[in-house]
Amino acid sequence: MAVTGLPPYDETNVFARILRGEIPCKKVYEDAYALAFHDINPQAPVHVLVIPKGAYVSSADFLQAAPDHEVAGFFRAVGAVARQLGLEAKGYRLLANMGPDSNQEVPHFHVHVFAGRPLGRMLP
Ligand code: 5GP
Repeated sequence: MAVTGLPPYDETNVFARILRGEIPCKKVYEDAYALAFHDINPQAPVHVLVIPKGAYVSSADFLQAAPDHEVAGFFRAVGAVARQLGLEAKGYRLLANMGPDSNQEVPHFHVHVFAGRPLGRMLP
Protein backbone atom coordinates (compact mmCIF):
# COMPACT_ATOMS: atom_id res chain seq x y z
CA MET A 1 0.00 0.00 0.00
CA ALA A 2 1.34 3.45 -0.86
CA VAL A 3 1.55 6.10 1.85
CA THR A 4 -1.72 7.51 0.48
CA GLY A 5 -3.91 4.53 1.27
CA LEU A 6 -4.24 4.12 -2.50
CA PRO A 7 -2.70 1.11 -4.27
CA PRO A 8 1.03 1.18 -5.02
CA TYR A 9 2.17 3.20 -8.02
CA ASP A 10 1.05 1.60 -11.28
CA GLU A 11 3.71 2.08 -13.95
CA THR A 12 1.07 1.50 -16.66
CA ASN A 13 -1.15 4.45 -15.69
CA VAL A 14 -1.85 6.83 -18.54
CA PHE A 15 0.27 9.70 -17.19
CA ALA A 16 3.26 7.39 -16.69
CA ARG A 17 2.84 6.39 -20.31
CA ILE A 18 2.68 10.05 -21.38
CA LEU A 19 5.89 10.74 -19.40
CA ARG A 20 7.61 7.85 -21.19
CA GLY A 21 6.43 9.20 -24.56
CA GLU A 22 4.31 6.11 -25.26
CA ILE A 23 1.13 8.20 -25.58
CA PRO A 24 1.10 11.65 -27.22
CA CYS A 25 0.03 14.80 -25.39
CA LYS A 26 -0.44 18.44 -26.28
CA LYS A 27 2.47 19.74 -24.24
CA VAL A 28 2.41 23.28 -22.89
CA TYR A 29 5.40 23.22 -20.52
CA GLU A 30 8.21 20.95 -19.37
CA ASP A 31 11.15 21.29 -17.00
CA ALA A 32 13.19 18.97 -14.77
CA TYR A 33 10.33 18.53 -12.31
CA ALA A 34 7.09 18.68 -14.23
CA LEU A 35 5.25 18.18 -17.49
CA ALA A 36 2.10 20.13 -18.38
CA PHE A 37 -0.33 19.29 -21.16
CA HIS A 38 -3.91 19.94 -22.22
CA ASP A 39 -6.58 17.69 -20.69
CA ILE A 40 -8.06 15.33 -23.27
CA ASN A 41 -11.60 16.17 -22.06
CA PRO A 42 -11.46 19.88 -21.15
CA GLN A 43 -13.93 21.20 -18.57
CA ALA A 44 -13.09 24.87 -19.23
CA PRO A 45 -11.65 26.88 -22.15
CA VAL A 46 -8.24 26.33 -20.55
CA HIS A 47 -7.82 22.96 -18.83
CA VAL A 48 -4.21 21.95 -18.36
CA LEU A 49 -2.80 19.12 -16.26
CA VAL A 50 0.53 19.53 -14.48
CA ILE A 51 2.22 16.32 -13.36
CA PRO A 52 5.45 15.68 -11.50
CA LYS A 53 8.09 13.62 -13.28
CA GLY A 54 8.46 11.33 -10.26
CA ALA A 55 6.21 8.33 -9.59
CA TYR A 56 3.65 9.50 -7.01
CA VAL A 57 0.13 8.10 -6.77
CA SER A 58 -1.57 11.19 -5.35
CA SER A 59 -1.12 14.51 -3.59
CA ALA A 60 -0.88 12.65 -0.27
CA ASP A 61 1.89 10.42 -1.60
CA PHE A 62 3.74 13.33 -3.24
CA LEU A 63 3.55 15.67 -0.26
CA GLN A 64 4.72 12.98 2.15
CA ALA A 65 7.30 11.12 0.08
CA ALA A 66 8.82 13.57 -2.38
CA PRO A 67 12.00 15.42 -1.41
CA ASP A 68 11.68 19.16 -0.83
CA HIS A 69 13.31 20.10 -4.13
CA GLU A 70 10.75 18.04 -6.05
CA VAL A 71 7.83 19.61 -4.16
CA ALA A 72 9.19 23.11 -4.69
CA GLY A 73 10.13 22.42 -8.30
CA PHE A 74 6.69 21.03 -9.06
CA PHE A 75 4.74 23.95 -7.59
CA ARG A 76 7.08 26.47 -9.24
CA ALA A 77 6.25 24.71 -12.50
CA VAL A 78 2.51 25.10 -11.83
CA GLY A 79 3.12 28.84 -11.43
CA ALA A 80 5.22 28.94 -14.59
CA VAL A 81 2.45 27.24 -16.57
CA ALA A 82 -0.12 29.82 -15.43
CA ARG A 83 2.25 32.66 -16.28
CA GLN A 84 3.18 31.18 -19.65
CA LEU A 85 -0.49 30.80 -20.57
CA GLY A 86 -1.18 34.42 -19.55
CA LEU A 87 -3.73 33.43 -16.91
CA GLU A 88 -2.72 35.69 -14.05
CA ALA A 89 -4.66 38.84 -15.07
CA LYS A 90 -8.07 37.15 -15.17
CA GLY A 91 -7.29 34.34 -12.78
CA TYR A 92 -7.44 30.58 -12.70
CA ARG A 93 -8.30 27.67 -10.45
CA LEU A 94 -6.00 24.87 -9.27
CA LEU A 95 -7.52 21.53 -8.29
CA ALA A 96 -6.00 18.24 -7.19
CA ASN A 97 -8.19 15.19 -6.63
CA MET A 98 -6.99 12.64 -4.10
CA GLY A 99 -8.62 9.30 -3.49
CA PRO A 100 -12.08 7.82 -3.99
CA ASP A 101 -14.33 10.61 -2.62
CA SER A 102 -12.65 13.06 -4.99
CA ASN A 103 -13.15 10.78 -8.00
CA GLN A 104 -9.43 10.74 -8.75
CA GLU A 105 -9.25 8.75 -11.99
CA VAL A 106 -5.58 8.70 -12.85
CA PRO A 107 -3.27 7.38 -10.09
CA HIS A 108 -0.37 9.71 -10.83
CA PHE A 109 -0.46 12.99 -8.85
CA HIS A 110 -1.64 15.90 -10.98
CA VAL A 111 -2.90 19.44 -10.60
CA HIS A 112 -5.66 20.70 -12.89
CA VAL A 113 -5.39 24.32 -14.07
CA PHE A 114 -8.77 25.74 -15.13
CA ALA A 115 -9.26 29.16 -16.71
CA GLY A 116 -10.72 31.08 -19.62
CA ARG A 117 -14.14 31.95 -18.20
CA PRO A 118 -15.68 32.85 -14.85
CA LEU A 119 -15.44 29.57 -12.95
CA GLY A 120 -18.18 30.04 -10.38
CA ARG A 121 -17.83 29.10 -6.76
CA MET A 122 -15.78 26.13 -5.61
CA LEU A 123 -17.92 22.98 -5.88
CA PRO A 124 -21.06 22.46 -8.00
P1 5GP B 1 -8.67 13.13 -12.14
O1 5GP B 1 -10.13 12.77 -12.13
O2 5GP B 1 -7.79 11.92 -11.93
O3 5GP B 1 -8.33 14.27 -11.22
O4 5GP B 1 -8.36 13.70 -13.58
C1 5GP B 1 -7.81 12.96 -14.62
C2 5GP B 1 -7.88 13.80 -15.86
O5 5GP B 1 -7.06 13.18 -16.85
C3 5GP B 1 -9.28 13.92 -16.46
O6 5GP B 1 -9.64 15.30 -16.53
C4 5GP B 1 -9.14 13.29 -17.86
O7 5GP B 1 -9.87 13.96 -18.84
C5 5GP B 1 -7.64 13.37 -18.11
N1 5GP B 1 -7.11 12.33 -18.97
C6 5GP B 1 -7.35 10.99 -18.88
N2 5GP B 1 -6.67 10.34 -19.84
C7 5GP B 1 -5.98 11.27 -20.54
C8 5GP B 1 -5.09 11.20 -21.65
O8 5GP B 1 -4.78 10.13 -22.21
N3 5GP B 1 -4.56 12.38 -22.09
C9 5GP B 1 -4.87 13.57 -21.51
N4 5GP B 1 -4.29 14.67 -22.03
N5 5GP B 1 -5.71 13.68 -20.46
C10 5GP B 1 -6.25 12.54 -19.98
